[in-house]
Amino acid sequence: MRCFIGLLVISLLVLNSPVLYAGQLVLVIDDFGYRQHNEEQIIGFSPLITIAVLPHSPNAKRIATMAHEHGNDVIIHLPMAPMNKQPLEKDTLFPSMNESEVKVIVDNAVERVPYAVGVNNHMGSLMTSNLSGMINVMKALSRYSMFFLDSKTIGKTQVKKAALDYNIPVLTRDVFLDDKQTESAISQQFDLAVKLARKNGVAIAIGHPHPQTVNVLRTKLANLPADIELVKLSQLITTVSDSVNHKPKITLKEIIKKCKHRLEEIVNLKLVDE
Ligand SMILES: [Zn+2]
Repeated sequence: MRCFIGLLVISLLVLNSPVLYAGQLVLVIDDFGYRQHNEEQIIGFSPLITIAVLPHSPNAKRIATMAHEHGNDVIIHLPMAPMNKQPLEKDTLFPSMNESEVKVIVDNAVERVPYAVGVNNHMGSLMTSNLSGMINVMKALSRYSMFFLDSKTIGKTQVKKAALDYNIPVLTRDVFLDDKQTESAISQQFDLAVKLARKNGVAIAIGHPHPQTVNVLRTKLANLPADIELVKLSQLITTVSDSVNHKPKITLKEIIKKCKHRLEEIVNLKLVDE
C-alpha cells in the first residue's frame, strides 16, 4: 500500500512538473550582412537563433528585417577596435574617440539595423578593455532599451564595469563555435556549449556564417538533446535585470533533489500517522 502511495506521489510530481530541461543554450551568429545564402539558411534553422548584424554591411537592413519577421532576435554587431592589425569595418569604435563621436556612431548603427534588441562587439579587444571608451558606448546605448552581450574577445574586459551605472544588462559569451573552421572542431565546440549549459544552467555560444558552421548547426539542431532548451538571447534578460550576471534557472539536479526531499517529508508524515 505504501509502495502504491509512493508511486502515486511520484506520478503526480512528474505530471505537475513543467518540461524538465537540464540547461538553456543560446546560439548567436555574428557578422551577418555579407553572406546572404548562408545567413538565410541559418535563419531558416530556427527562430530561436539570435543574429548579430554588422551595421555597415551591404545587406544589413534586409537581413535584419527578414530575421525579425521570422521571429529571431536581432542584435547590432558593433565594430570595435582590436589590439592586432586587421581589416576594419567602417565606423569601428576606438578608445580615443570622444563621447559625441561614439554617440554619432551608435545612433547610426541603431538606424542601420532595424528591430535590434541588443548589441554585441565585433572584434574589440582594444576597445572593450578600455573603461572610459566603454563608458562612452554605454552612455550612448542607455538612450535605447538594449542589452549588451560581451563577445569577450579579451580576458580583462571592462564591459560589465562600464554598464553598471547605466542599468544596461550584460551577458557574456561562453563558447566560440568556429575559431577553427573544420566541421569536427565546430562540432566539438557545440558539444562543449551543451555541456556548459547542463553544468551552469545556461550557455551562450557565438558562431559565424561559415559554410562549415552552417553544416554543423543543421545536424546538431536536428539532434538537439532532449534536456537542452534552445532559447533566444533576450529570453535571458528577465533573469539578469536584477544583477549583471546571468543566473541559471533551476537545474534538473535541483528539481530531483527537491522531489526527493518532498517525498521524504510525505513518507515521514505517513509514519507519524501510523
Ligand atoms: Zn564579428
